[in-house]
Amino acid sequence: MKIICVGRNYVEHAKELNNKAPKDPVLFLKPDTAILLKKQPFFIPEFSNNVHHEVEILVKINRIGKHIDQKFAHKYYDEIGLGIDFTARDLQSQLKEKGLPWEKAKAFDGSAVIGNFVSKAKFANVNDINFSLKRNTETVQRGNTALMLWKIDTLIEYISKYFTLKIGDVIFTGTPSGVGKVFSDDILNGFLEEEEMFSIKVK
Ligand code: ZN
Repeated sequence: MKIICVGRNYVEHAKELNNKAPKDPVLFLKPDTAILLKKQPFFIPEFSNNVHHEVEILVKINRIGKHIDQKFAHKYYDEIGLGIDFTARDLQSQLKEKGLPWEKAKAFDGSAVIGNFVSKAKFANVNDINFSLKRNTETVQRGNTALMLWKIDTLIEYISKYFTLKIGDVIFTGTPSGVGKVFSDDILNGFLEEEEMFSIKVK
């Protein structure tokens, strides 16, 4: 399986990192070795002093497809989840400055938290789902899929022009504003509407 991530999909987040809202979705990949194993803590890697949490809505692909029209994109996923795209922001800034690829900052071991999934039928409208992240007791990120620059079905159309989507692939759809540094002993809890989807200890 592969993980396809979308960058700068929420205007407020693009602004907080001084990025312009892009003309097209920004895409990058994470390998399967990036997945944080269930019930394991997240270890801050020694090569970064500034790892950020990015809470994101996840979409799990349930059939193979290429050049998917957005009209039919809804047939390619049944489940919505929540995860974290851990980002070594210090390293990413250096790479961005030099125009280099982001993988070392984005695709390292443990950088992809994939929480629980729920049936999309639970939601009246996938383009109106609230989600949030608590760091310890404080809610640090809040988002709603209505605020995405590119909605889920549009992303599937765009991504599948470049990458064949296969069963089990997961799309990380981008983070809303409020990203910030994680510290050792933090507990990160993610919520889709009111339901807790993951709880991660940072070490
Ligand atoms: Zn992200």
